[in-house]
Amino acid sequence: MQQIDATQLGGVPIHGGVADFETRLANAFAQIEVEALPLWRQGKVADYIPELGEIDPNQFGMCITTIDGGMHTFGESAKPFSIQSISKLFTLELLVELLGESVWEHIGRSPTNSAFNSLGWLEQEKGKPYNPFVNAGALAVTDRIMNSTAMALHSILQHIRQLAGDQSIQINDRVGDSERATCWRNLSIAYLMKSFGTVTGPVETLLDVYCDQCAIELTCEQLARAGLLFVRGGIDHFGNQVLTPTSTDRINALLATAGMYDGAGEFAFRVGLPAKSGVGGGILAISPGKMAIAAWGPALDATGQSIVGLKALEILASHLELSVFRHQCGV
Ligand code: GLN
Repeated sequence: MQQIDATQLGGVPIHGGVADFETRLANAFAQIEVEALPLWRQGKVADYIPELGEIDPNQFGMCITTIDGGMHTFGESAKPFSIQSISKLFTLELLVELLGESVWEHIGRSPTNSAFNSLGWLEQEKGKPYNPFVNAGALAVTDRIMNSTAMALHSILQHIRQLAGDQSIQINDRVGDSERATCWRNLSIAYLMKSFGTVTGPVETLLDVYCDQCAIELTCEQLARAGLLFVRGGIDHFGNQVLTPTSTDRINALLATAGMYDGAGEFAFRVGLPAKSGVGGGILAISPGKMAIAAWGPALDATGQSIVGLKALEILASHLELSVFRHQCGV
């Protein structure tokens, strides 16, 4: 494993070293408790997937994994939740591993101002998704993984287990079945793309795999560990160079501009980190070269982001001075 100078953790620089980092973290956690946790009342669970609609909205967990392998937790950090669209980050990463940069021939890199599951624009774009994180883009990514490997779902699950360093990670079949029974918009998106040739395989099979990849469950601890790959320039939890530093830099750039969909601008403004959200209430935020942060709270705001998670990340990023837009001139 890489040896990292711990005095640089969490800020540019953290003048007081590790002790100062821990003080800042404790202050952030205290503020999260008072200011972020009560916000669950203003949010709403994702009931368009019936099984997710049953979840208690008043839950919250957080985990921070630092580049040197340290872990800091808050609340229900060991409780598994449905990663939903956070899976899109891992499928994109897998596809870049499989195909390299040719991935970008069929998938765009533009942010959008529309909801993750909107499809009006897709007709004008002749079926080419704006980016890999809107549903159209994620469906195109999974379609390509299915073209490249015989057991796509197994490969996706195995890949996430490997990144998180945990073979016990599973798919929640009830959540997968529940989405499959109601995924009319995603079917429409995939059929429209099929008509343009930007989806090539059978649509129903594609949706089977997509609904199951979204139903994979991780804890904040597993998710933050898996996120280290994007913190460490493509080096995974075990020290293996899985992706090139350029590819991970590029994925982080797309996370910053499109990972939170039409909420990306607000997230950049308030938190300032590359991040991916899911309607299960999870958010994975990446502080390149420093740490990965997983937050989970099932109550969502209008753009489908965890309302408590967003506020908690805002507080944490402010205490640790994590925004990638922060001035670097040392004053
Ligand atoms: N499975 C969900 C869907 O396709 C994922 C959406 C999300 O998490 N933003 O609608």
